[in-house]
Amino acid sequence: MLSVFTKTARSKALQANSRVALRYLQASKLSTLQLPPVPTAHATKETEPYFTSTYINGQHYKSDATEWFDVYDPATDIVVAKVPQSTDAELNQAIETAEKAFQSYKNLSIMKRLTLTFNYVELLKKNTDRLAATIVYEQGKSWSAAIADVQRGIQCAEHATTVTKETEGFSLEVSNDMTSHTIREPIGVIGSIMPFNFPVMIPLWTIPYIIATGNTTVIKPSEMCPGTGAILAEIAKEAGVPDGVINIVHGKAPTVNKIVSDPRIKAVTFVGGNNAGKYVYTEATKNGKRAQVNLGAKNHVVVLPDADKQTLLKGVVAGAFSSTGQVCLSTDILFLVGEARKFIPDIVETVKALETKPGFQDGDFGPLVTKQSLERLEAVIQDAVDQGAEVLVDGRGKKPAGFEDGYFIGPTLLRNVKKGMRCVDEELFGPIFTIVEADSLDETIDYCNNNEFGNSVAVFTNSGPAANRFAKAINIGQVGINVPIPIPLAQFGFTSNKASFLGDLHFYGPSAFKFLTQAKTITTSWKGIDYK
Ligand code: NAD
Repeated sequence: MLSVFTKTARSKALQANSRVALRYLQASKLSTLQLPPVPTAHATKETEPYFTSTYINGQHYKSDATEWFDVYDPATDIVVAKVPQSTDAELNQAIETAEKAFQSYKNLSIMKRLTLTFNYVELLKKNTDRLAATIVYEQGKSWSAAIADVQRGIQCAEHATTVTKETEGFSLEVSNDMTSHTIREPIGVIGSIMPFNFPVMIPLWTIPYIIATGNTTVIKPSEMCPGTGAILAEIAKEAGVPDGVINIVHGKAPTVNKIVSDPRIKAVTFVGGNNAGKYVYTEATKNGKRAQVNLGAKNHVVVLPDADKQTLLKGVVAGAFSSTGQVCLSTDILFLVGEARKFIPDIVETVKALETKPGFQDGDFGPLVTKQSLERLEAVIQDAVDQGAEVLVDGRGKKPAGFEDGYFIGPTLLRNVKKGMRCVDEELFGPIFTIVEADSLDETIDYCNNNEFGNSVAVFTNSGPAANRFAKAINIGQVGINVPIPIPLAQFGFTSNKASFLGDLHFYGPSAFKFLTQAKTITTSWKGIDYK
């Protein structure tokens, strides 16, 4: 579960927060540390922005860039960092370094790579608070959501240690004196392009698998929250991963264009929105690369009258509002089937009670990532109002005291919405939830199946047969039954489909090993002297 909204989880996280400073000191013993001090509070007017490091061949560099973008603390609208548009020379150097490192790293024995992957898991755990703090500071998540972001990533790193099983070959004696066997070999330099919303979990959908399988990589974090990239790379160095295996570059379209076009990069992974994602897939595959592209979404929840009320209310909160609704599996539309309308008053009260706070104060959720996101969502609400929607809970203008400049919007609940409204037609990516009343389960199944996206869908019911029918009839790749955000655990892989995915092999899980390796079949015949 991505959700971190139980009181127990939150109070545990707050206790952890009070120990943060001490644990940073322990984590900061990394030998090459040249990163800025780890934040423990939000930015103030006195805050001095730091330069985000470029990480090539195991070293941090300040870029020679002429163009630098601002990174904001979303809770305060204060610039906390500058991130470069990596220069052509830097991009070339990163790719060349990764290619050179691949020539030796691919020959490191699988047992040694396995040890490195185990080391990486351990160091990620030790650096959880440090990574989470950077997420809160640059991306805006509440502390407990940031911890969950890191922990979900660590689960993928743990799964990457199954490399010996997942890359095992097949052997067959094909005739007398002749055997064929397959081995799976790494493919080379992997280029990875990251979104803003999970600055640790999503890089860890690939980095540990790259370490385990013997590939090397050039990674471009989101320019909105780039700080965790170099920390993840540096932790790998501390784990013993050779210099050059993991390299971090920065920027916008020019960096992406280099990754999808440079022939030294053999495969591309991308997670993000539709426009950039479709472009990346088209260009990468046109240039002969493997590509794995996770895209946008529009996710629905169906509620039957026999749903358990408490499970449903927790599901509403986790599905629509965790991580400020900035999750590709966030639920935008709640279908209440028939008598399930009876849940509306409780849903309204639950949503009203949610607390929006700056990340380090750890409320139910933090601010949006940018001022543009805030303006877009306020316009989406206004559009619904103008077209006759009812606003059951209005989050506009709700700012925590002392953080009036932050990109905050309170929880918002709309009703009487219809197609043609932006809240129904667009991916929201914010803490806005819409209620739609439906007459039958079949009607909702048809609606969801006609959704162009295939990230996730959920049903809340106590009826096994109804749930089974729903799960079978739905054409979406990830289905929750009384689970609002059915993100598969690392062992399964992220099985989104339709317009939410381009490629053949999904992120993490068993398919990650297939994506990052290629099969070679060796046929052997020993004839001649027979020693007796
Ligand atoms: P985005 O598409 O704006 O950015 C993703 C990456 O693409 C960034 O690194 C960005 O620098 C780059 N990029 C953006 N515009 C580009 C352009 N014109 N040319 C080249 N590169 C460009 O996405 P985002 O705002 O960071 O993330 C939110 C989106 O990502 C949502 O749509 C969400 O659903 C999706 N997402 C999907 C998944 C999934 O697994 N399906 C997971 C997380 C996020």
